[in-house]
Amino acid sequence: MSCIFCQILSGETPASLIYRDEQVTAFRDIHPIARTHILIIPNRHIASVNELEPGDEVLVGHMVLVAKELAAQAGVAEGGYRLMINTGVHGGQTVSHLHLHLIAGKLARFLLG
Ligand code: AMP
Ligand code: ZN
Repeated sequence: MSCIFCQILSGETPASLIYRDEQVTAFRDIHPIARTHILIIPNRHIASVNELEPGDEVLVGHMVLVAKELAAQAGVAEGGYRLMINTGVHGGQTVSHLHLHLIAGKLARFLLG
């Protein structure tokens, strides 16, 4: 299995896991760009937004709702945070397994404009 996030899902590669349910898993980004930097990924391999299909609305909505819960858990809900999905080379996507970035902290604003 060549996908690094699938390897995290299978336990083959260690990660700082934060949350898991039937649909999604969340873990800390290995190179955080802000104090809070969490990735929420589907448990099923989907390469990017480009590969989403009709019927995936529930999954994508669930990813956002989990991000909301994790933001509250991290204590950043009130202060604010950024949710980001990079897609493709020009979108800055470096891992080809759909992931939602939950980023909060001063650096997030500084680095991402
Ligand atoms: P993107 O550039 O949107 O594709 O984001 C990929 C993110 O995955 C980057 O922020 C990386 O730091 C992060 N990342 C890559 N490998 C790992 C890993 N093994 N564990 C946790 N995060 C990772
Ligand atoms: Zn994968």
